[in-house]
Order: sequence, then C-alpha cells, then structure tokens
Amino acid sequence: MRRPPKLNSLVLLAVLFVALHVISLLVFKSGAASAVASYPFLLLAPTLAFASCCWRAGADEREWRSAWILLGAGMCLWTCGIVLSAWEDIFQHIPVSAAWFSDFSFFLYGVPVLLAISSVSAKQRILFFVWMDAAQALMTGFLAYVSIFSVLPFSATPLAPIAASTLVLTYNAENFILAVAATLRLLAQPRGRERRFYVVLCSYLWIYAVSAYVYNNWAATSDGHGVMDTLVDIPFLFFAVATMAPRPLRNRVEEQQDKQTLTLFIENVSPIFYTVALLALSMWVMREHFYVGTVGIFTALVVYATRATTLQGRYMRVQRELHEARDRLEQMALTDALTNTANRRRFDDALALEWNHAIRNRQPLALLLVDIDYFKLLNDRYGHPAGDRCLVSIALALQSALPRSGDLLARYGGEEFAAILPATDEAGARVVAATMQAAVHALKIRNESSTGLYVTVSVGVAVFGSPQADAAEIIEAADQALYRAKQGGRNRIEATAQHDFLRNGTR
Ligand code: GH3
Ligand code: MG
Ligand code: MG
Repeated sequence: MRRPPKLNSLVLLAVLFVALHVISLLVFKSGAASAVASYPFLLLAPTLAFASCCWRAGADEREWRSAWILLGAGMCLWTCGIVLSAWEDIFQHIPVSAAWFSDFSFFLYGVPVLLAISSVSAKQRILFFVWMDAAQALMTGFLAYVSIFSVLPFSATPLAPIAASTLVLTYNAENFILAVAATLRLLAQPRGRERRFYVVLCSYLWIYAVSAYVYNNWAATSDGHGVMDTLVDIPFLFFAVATMAPRPLRNRVEEQQDKQTLTLFIENVSPIFYTVALLALSMWVMREHFYVGTVGIFTALVVYATRATTLQGRYMRVQRELHEARDRLEQMALTDALTNTANRRRFDDALALEWNHAIRNRQPLALLLVDIDYFKLLNDRYGHPAGDRCLVSIALALQSALPRSGDLLARYGGEEFAAILPATDEAGARVVAATMQAAVHALKIRNESSTGLYVTVSVGVAVFGSPQADAAEIIEAADQALYRAKQGGRNRIEATAQHDFLRNGTR
C-alpha cells in the first residue's frame, strides 16, 4: 500500500491553493480576464478531489473500492460541469440566467454520491442490486434532463431550459438531501473505519451545501467572477486533504461491538435512500411532465419491490439454513460420534421420559446394560482402531436386536451400551438380551478368552423400580445385575426385577 502524505503539508498546500486563487482574482478584476484567471482553480479543485478518490480506490481494500469509485464518478461529473461551464462562459457567452449543460452535469454529480452514501457498508454486494442502482441512476439522468431542458433527450424539439433561479433551489435541495443522508449514515456508524468514511463525507457534504448555497445566491445577483469563487474550492480541497490524510490504525475490537436498534434501522433503511430520492424527484418532475414523472415513480416502485422481494427471499433462505444447522447441531449433541447411537445425554433424557411414562401408564420398563467381555484384551491384542471397529459393529448388532421403534440403544460409556425397553417385562427383556448376545456372537470378532474364540457380551437387566425410587435406581439395579453376570463368568444375562411398583400403585 502506498504511504499517505503528511497532514500538515496537505493543509499547507490547500491554504496556498486558496491564497493563489484569491490573489489571481484580485489581480484580474475585469470580466473576461477574471474568468480566465479563476477557471483553472475552479477546475483544479474538483480534479484534486477526483484524484484523491482514485488514489483511495487503488490503495484501499476491495470492499471499499466501489464507494471510492462512486465518489470519484461524482467528482468527475462535477469537473465535467465546470469544464462545460467555462466553455459556455468564455466561448459561448450563454447567459447565466438560464440553465445549460453544465447544470445538467452539476446536478448529476449527486447521483453517484448518493449511491455511495446508501450502499457503502453492504458487506456482501448483490450484483443484481448494482444493476438496479444503475437503472435508477439512468432514470435520474433522464428525469434531470427533462426537468432542466423541458424536452425529451434526443428529440428534435429545441431545448427550453428552466430559469437559473429555479435550478439554484434544486441544487440547494439536492445538497441538503445528500448532507442529511450522509449524516444519518454517520449516526448509524458509531465506530470504526466506516465511521471515519462518513465523518469525512458528511463534513464535506455540509461544507459543500453551505458554500454552494452562499455562492449560488451571490452568483445569482452578480455578473462574472470575484473572490467568492474561492468558496467553490473549499469543499473539494477539504475532501482531497481528508481523503489523502493518513488514517489511524483500525481498532478491530471496537468494530465488533453490538449494534443498537437505531443503528440497525438506519443501516437497513439506507439502501432505499436513493429510491426515495428518485421518487421525490419523479413527483417533482410530474408537475410539469406528467408521463415522464410517472415513469420515474414506476421505476422507483419496481426497484423497491424487487429489492424487497429479493431480500425477503434471501432472508427466508438464510432462516432455513439456520434451522437446518441448528437441527444438525442438536443431532450431533445427542449422538455418539463413534458408534452413531444415542449418547449418554440422550440416554439420560430418554430414561427420565420413559420412567414417567411407565409410572403414568402403569407399564413395566426394562433397562439393559450391555458390557463387552474382555474388551481390554481385544484392544491390547489388535490395537485401538480394531477396538473402535469392534464397537461400531457391536452397536449395529445390538441395534438389530431392537426392532420396536420405542426402544432406544445408547452408548453408556467406554465399551458399555444401554437399552431402554418401554412396556417390556422381565421375560421380554431376557429375550431381547439373548437376541443381542446372539447377534454379537454372529459377528465372529476374534478375541480368545475364557468365554470362547469370539467377542461376547454380558447383560444386566433391570425391570422397574419401587414407587419411591427415581430413574437412577433402575440404573443401579441394572448395574448390579451386570456385575453379577461378570462375576458369574461373563457372556451371561442376569436380571433384577422389582415388582413393587406394579403392585403398590401410583404416584
Ligand atoms: P470386562 O470383561 O470385565 O468388562 O473386561 P474389559 O476388559 O472389557 O473391561 P475393562 O473395564 O477392564 O476395559 C475396558 C476397555 O475398553 C478399556 C478401554 O481402553 C476400552 N475402551 C473404552 N472406550 C473405548 C473406545 O472408544 N475405543 C476403544 N478401542 N477402546 C475403548
Ligand atoms: Mg466396562
Ligand atoms: Mg468390558
């Protein structure tokens, strides 16, 4: 990145510029000479502003480029305006009382500037919106042409320009609207780099609005050029200096602060600043040129409706994606990553739910704890990855033994699984446990031990708890049963059935 020049030297150059302009106007006082003396300065000031925009467009990051390009386009239109003005003034001798092509160019200067104000902080630029902005800009040009010259562009009818006094009113309104729009954006940008952009732009636009107001009023009553011409330089020189000045280091933490409601509101409403301005201009044009104004209003409405529909579509898509992401996250939070069965958290929730169900419906509830026998041995013999593969296969085998949709298999921890079987009595639970053992055995995963050649499991079964008990007791009971199965030599099923609850009633 190129190094920005020092602020002091920039200010000094600007002051020197104005001083030279004043001196040349004081030296050349007569009509034609004063024009020749003043125009180079009037031309150079916006050119400097334009150059500073080009410099920033090249030096800044990509996201800022379009804002600088738009401002540069505005400065370029203004410079074209002053070139045309000089030509009309010096060579054509067009009376200052009527508007002419320079005025058309001056008016259009506001178009890219307002687009820059309304669109700068759009983080993700939508290409389609850029085209719509271009359509709005073209429509503004068309309306401006019709309202300034009172004829359609490219028509054979001679131009009938409006009075300069009416145009001055339009300029003042335009400058005021630009300054207010930038101020609103500034209010919405309490911190960070964008704030700096709007501080510069807003200050410039207010200086411009005031100096244009004073200058235009003066120019309306005077003929030719005078020291007042230097008023024209000031906003552009200020802009050029502020744009070229070195910027402070960005504070990333500050930029990430939460946005307030007003901030969000202004930020959301600012993309339609331009459409509102187009609507206002169309309504103004409509007084004199009904159909042209109607076309302008129609364009503004179409742009607004299209923007709203597109944004609504995007909003709904983002909403759907968010829901899907949330569902995926929820699913992940409840699933065991290795075996894809329910995890401990889901098991705890499901058990609490089924426990209450069982009490309410007076139905038995069975819990199975399934532990792989001599699993440490398998890990030691064949390695951890083989152990993992074994866990996955066993999870599938256990799941295949649970055909009822209400049953839940979960990885309880390590090499231990748990199955919740609602509305299942001890006999049923034993059948399921035996099916599980058979399914695991059928896998024929080699692990020689006292239970045989292949991997086996021990199962602890618990059916129900007592009426005073909570869900933890059924786990305790199943664990005891499992312990007995292990003690009894493994590859066995042991059960603890507590029938008290069924007999004793409700809670
Ligand atoms: P028992 O028959 O008494 O249950 O003996 P065991 O070897 O199966 O039981 P022990 O509690 O001594 O060892 C359990 C082993 O399970 C130890 C641990 O390394 C292993 N294990 C736990 N979780 C995983 C896992 O996610 N992947 C693998 N590969 N091994 C695991
Ligand atoms: Mg174990
Ligand atoms: Mg084990």
